[in-house]
Amino acid sequence: MRELRMLLLFFCLPGICSLPSYCQAPQVREVAITIDDLPAATRGSSGTGVVEMTSKLLQTLRDQKVPAVGFVNEGKLYKWGEVDARIKALQLWVDGGFELGNHTYSHMSLNQSNLKDWEEDVVRGESVTRLLLAQHNMKLRYFRHPFLDTGRDLQTRREAEAFLVGRGYHIAPITLDAWDWMYAGVYEDAKNRGDGGLQQELVKSYLSYSDDVFAYSEKLAKQTIGYEPRQILLLHANQLEADHIGELIEVMRKRGYRFITLAAALSDQAYGLPDTYVGEEGTGWLDHWAVSLGKPPQNAPVFPQWVIERSKNLALPQP
Ligand SMILES: [Zn+2]
Repeated sequence: MRELRMLLLFFCLPGICSLPSYCQAPQVREVAITIDDLPAATRGSSGTGVVEMTSKLLQTLRDQKVPAVGFVNEGKLYKWGEVDARIKALQLWVDGGFELGNHTYSHMSLNQSNLKDWEEDVVRGESVTRLLLAQHNMKLRYFRHPFLDTGRDLQTRREAEAFLVGRGYHIAPITLDAWDWMYAGVYEDAKNRGDGGLQQELVKSYLSYSDDVFAYSEKLAKQTIGYEPRQILLLHANQLEADHIGELIEVMRKRGYRFITLAAALSDQAYGLPDTYVGEEGTGWLDHWAVSLGKPPQNAPVFPQWVIERSKNLALPQP
């Protein structure tokens, strides 16, 4: 028996795993977490609510030792009577050892505006974030395109990228996205109405759909670029994540993920691959690479229609 165990151990060593059915260790995967639309992607929260939501979200990330970068829309700070609380929510990020990036001042789409206006919106979104980062000797270095809209034509895309690089930014791509924002609005409404049953149903669906999206994206990456890169996950600053990000982290750990910084993820050579994607609709970088290679992705998991219907009925805006 002991010999058999030794034999199995030998065959299950990394690199010589020739007996896959006996090898229980999951594949090692890496992911960086990014959270958009700070201080909050929610509509109805008060300043105090935003601080509480942020504290809860960051507490779980700290407990789980998961690094994250939060992307700010400074326009969301200026709500009458709540400015101090909303800036405090951002302060919690940097005081907690997390980093902030720019997501434009007003969440402006590059596909729906002219380049000059968009560039002004990028610059306008820097002031408070720069001050907060400076308190911790950090510089503003990451930028995330709102709606993942990178430009409707290649010239605009490249000019915008040159502008961002000129201002010292690294563009933060994403490769994993399970549309948490679509769940979050419905979840928040259910929570406000005290509908615990619906909340549970939404969380179950969100975690299961996320797992499907991760499996699909891992496969798509292998098909497109030949391996799974260090992934970058897109989430949003909302009550759903504040309440349940721990369970999402658990789903990812079960898939073999360990959590790395955005800087570590961006060191993957995949993020330097040819990318000529342009389109009306923003999308993730796995799609960018697939389209650039002339192999548009197929068979993506279908987002649950019932959640879309409920979201439509609430007339929730897309973040
Ligand atoms: Zn956003």
